[in-house]
Formats: sequence, C-alpha cells, structure tokens
Amino acid sequence: MRGKTHLAIGAAIGGAAALYYPFSWTHAAIYVTVAGFSALSPDLDGPSILNSKLSKASKVVRKLILWLGTLSVGAVLALYLWKRTMIPELTTAAFLLFFLGQIATQGALRNLLSSIMGCIAMFYGWKLGMDWLIGLGIYVAIAPWLKHRGLTHTIWAMLLWGFIASGLENALQIEGVMAVAIVGYFSHLLADTFTPRGVKWLYPLMQTTFRIRL
Ligand SMILES: [Zn+2]
Repeated sequence: MRGKTHLAIGAAIGGAAALYYPFSWTHAAIYVTVAGFSALSPDLDGPSILNSKLSKASKVVRKLILWLGTLSVGAVLALYLWKRTMIPELTTAAFLLFFLGQIATQGALRNLLSSIMGCIAMFYGWKLGMDWLIGLGIYVAIAPWLKHRGLTHTIWAMLLWGFIASGLENALQIEGVMAVAIVGYFSHLLADTFTPRGVKWLYPLMQTTFRIRL
C-alpha cells in the first residue's frame, strides 16, 4: 500500500482525536502528527514504500530531506551538548524532518543513519532514565534492516509502539497521545491486510498471513 494512503488514514485519525479530546490547535497538530507518523512507521522496513518509477528530481528532493533532517538533528544535539539548552519545538521539528527523510529514502546509507540515530536515542534514554526513548531507539535502529512486512507489521511491534507513545504522552502531558499512536499503527496493519500480500500479524510465532478480500 502506498505511503500516501497510510498518511491520509493517519491524518484522519489525528483529526478525529482532535475533535474527541478537549480542543486546542496545539493538541490538534500533535494528534495529527503522532497519528500520521504512527501510520507510516511500519514501512520503515524494506524499500517498498517507494515506487521504482520515481523521477530524478523527486529522488534528489528525498535525499535532500534525508540530509537536512540528519543535519538538523545533529545541530539540535550540538546545541544541547554545548549550551545545555533544548528548544522543544525545534527539537521536534528536527526529528520529524529526519524521520520523514528515513521514510522517503532507501538504501544502506539511510539504514546506517537510522541505526546511528537509534543508538543515540538509546543512549540518551538510558542516561535520562526514559525507557520509552530506549524503545524508540531500538525500533529506529533495527526496523530499516528488517525484511519488508516482517516484524514491524506485527502485534508485538504495535505493543512496543504503544509503550513508546505512553512515554511520549507522559512527557507531553497530553491525554490520548498513546491511544492515537496505537490506532494509527493499527490502521497501517489493517490497511495492508486488505492488500493481496496480506500481513503476518503474529510473526514469528505464527507464519499465517492474514488477508481480507473485499
Ligand atoms: Zn506496510
């Protein structure tokens, strides 16, 4: 299934959450962002989120996003190390840009950058005593190397994602972040279940591929 479709479903989930929970524009933006990224994350594995017929310009733009994201995360980290200041909005924007670059590109270089970033997240998570950040680090470090529609497309990955999001919810102090993240992740697996290739929801415990034909 195309990334655009997953993103659209995620954005709709975020929009619904914004209406369901007490409304504020900031919260609405956070719900839509969390749901959108949760709906895209499972496809951090393998290259198939991209179609091979990308134009040359599109490939350049994607590579550019990848490097811009990496550089901005580096800048945010450097700012923190040298000045001990962390601007939450800037930090979030940098990580989102990085994540976007991850999703939009493929190849060994992307995987390597992702693993390095994952290790950094694990280190800070361990140092700051934030288990959810360690969880996110593990996810980001490993997912790009996995076989497509393998481990990231399972109930177990969804549970890990929920755990990560519960930590984020605590950090942000915004009700519903975890629920939105889980529903967003679930929507991806469900949407893929409607494709001919199907999803192995319980892999590696069960090899059964679940498929729904309309
Ligand atoms: Zn998928």
